[in-house]
Amino acid sequence: MLKWADLIDQHVEELAALDTIDGGKLYHYSKDFEVPLSANMLRYYAGAADKIHGQVLKASMNFHASTLMEPVGVVGHIIPWNGPSFMFFTKVSPSIAAGCTMVVKPAEQTPLSALFYAHLAKQAGIPDGVVNVVQGFGPTAGAAIASHMDVDAVSFTGSTEVGRKIMEAAARSNLKQVSLELGGKSPLIVFDDADIDKAAEFAVLGIFFNKGEVCCASSRVLVQEGIYDEFEKKLVEKAKAWAIGDPFDSKTQHGPQTGKDHYEKILSYIEHGKREGATLLLGGKPVDTKGYYIEPTIFSDVKEDMLIAQDEIFGPVLSVLKFKTIEEAIKIGNNTKYGLAAGVITKNMDTANTVSRSIRAGTIWINCYFALGNDIPFGGYKMSGFGKDYGLDALYKFLHVKSVVTPIYNSPW
Ligand code: ADP
Repeated sequence: MLKWADLIDQHVEELAALDTIDGGKLYHYSKDFEVPLSANMLRYYAGAADKIHGQVLKASMNFHASTLMEPVGVVGHIIPWNGPSFMFFTKVSPSIAAGCTMVVKPAEQTPLSALFYAHLAKQAGIPDGVVNVVQGFGPTAGAAIASHMDVDAVSFTGSTEVGRKIMEAAARSNLKQVSLELGGKSPLIVFDDADIDKAAEFAVLGIFFNKGEVCCASSRVLVQEGIYDEFEKKLVEKAKAWAIGDPFDSKTQHGPQTGKDHYEKILSYIEHGKREGATLLLGGKPVDTKGYYIEPTIFSDVKEDMLIAQDEIFGPVLSVLKFKTIEEAIKIGNNTKYGLAAGVITKNMDTANTVSRSIRAGTIWINCYFALGNDIPFGGYKMSGFGKDYGLDALYKFLHVKSVVTPIYNSPW
């Protein structure tokens, strides 16, 4: 695993370029962050690989009992297109450390970097058959993994709709273990006492980073009434400065959406938002250039039950909502079928602690956003799925606990 990570570091530029060509990701971001962080994830789990062990138990009867941690077996990883490199290693790293073999199916929109990673795995000496990459479409190749009788676990990141199909296929076939990291409609809650400038920066990053194609994007920003107008002004100012352009240009912050279908779906949500009566503060249409570019779009005066405040759009479309009290913020924050992440911006510890414990989501960011790390578990509540990625928790998706029991000498057993 360490050797594989070193080889990735030696090929950062080619790998980053493949993800940019495939999915319109920012090349400089992939080169400086996503690809190197993927190598680091391999290193983190390489460190865990020889520290996975069971326990000797204090069994209550006259037994000597211990547990063994065993690899779950063959794992199917079905991954999405918004972070082809990072998603590959999010799934592959802990499952190798757990001792599993695997079949990885990249998204059909972004197949290239996975092939390069598999090629480097071979060079690093990972035995044949341990990491297998199978390309194909979701309803055929993906479905074959989910319903295969010899696949022991499936680990999926993608839409809630497809997550449901995967669970159904697992249930109908061999009841394989399932873990799902699905959609989100994460709230970023900004209180009156916040540093408005910083809060607006987090809001812009939270929704427009990777052109909004992020499962934990802050697609709903809830703003307390005392700073609502000033916050909106700052938000628009910062969003206007968000640089749209060629994803290979190091000055670009906003590239094209990944594909035509997705681009059209985002535009139809924008039209819906206009019809629903939200106020269009910024953007709202395609960029007048070649490629699937959509302007960073901000709707204000959004009501919590509007479609644009409920559905995951997975694009550069932000809904801004107003609240009066902390109770109202918590109520609106939780008014979603999803529960992936939330942010809270405040200087008051009581407010931060109350919101952290009251929002039903797998990650709460206090005075920050997108603070992800190899060692910080990440995953959803509610219809955002179950089973954690990252941290030592991710290993347990790929391990069985086996109990080994023997009677103590001379015991009646
Ligand atoms: P998105 O909606 O973000 O495009 P999807 O959930 O459709 O994401 O896709 C994520 C991954 O799931 C991709 O690798 C895709 O090929 C796969 N997939 C899509 N449909 C199915 C299916 N019916 N069974 C298994 N995998 C699928």
